[in-house]
Amino acid sequence: MNKLQADILEKGICADLAAQATNLVMGDGNLNAEIVFIGEAPGKNEDEQGLPFVGAAGKFLNEMLAQAGMERSDVYITNIVKYRPPNNRDPLPEEKKAFWPYLVKQLQIIKPKVVITLGRHSMEYFLPDMKISQIHGQAKRIQFGDDKLVIVPLYHPAAALYNGGLRGTLIEDFMGVPRIIELIKTKAK
Ligand code: URA
Repeated sequence: MNKLQADILEKGICADLAAQATNLVMGDGNLNAEIVFIGEAPGKNEDEQGLPFVGAAGKFLNEMLAQAGMERSDVYITNIVKYRPPNNRDPLPEEKKAFWPYLVKQLQIIKPKVVITLGRHSMEYFLPDMKISQIHGQAKRIQFGDDKLVIVPLYHPAAALYNGGLRGTLIEDFMGVPRIIELIKTKAK
């Protein structure tokens, strides 16, 4: 990961974002994790601390992890865009494209069983042309380079935080994740 980080800095990836950011937020957690969560981009708190999902959305994510019987140290958490966009605007297509190869490399290092995308920005690269409202919570097996990978698209915790309907749906989908992992493990035997 340190090498990837150095490469991003050296190549000046998204220099405009970098100029306004405090930290490059690569990710956090267990490099041997079976599950990788991928959000959108760091917000204010994440930029300040250099860690993903440490603000309000992160607190909600931690609560759901605990409810599902997991801890942050069991999983790896990152974002598709690794610098905070100014004023928390949506990441631009070219910013997602610039960081995509680094996300691919992170996944090649970690080799998770499941990738959980949080929100449409990280979903769209793995499951193009699909709508989150139609497939949230469903496990989708995709070809990823030479390997197969299971993607579970979930709503973004920040979007669900203040929307009662989405919140319930996200929690319900989240609680289905341990079963998806169990199924994958059983099939692999
Ligand atoms: N939202 C995200 O998508 N990522 C973070 O790291 C924090 C909030």
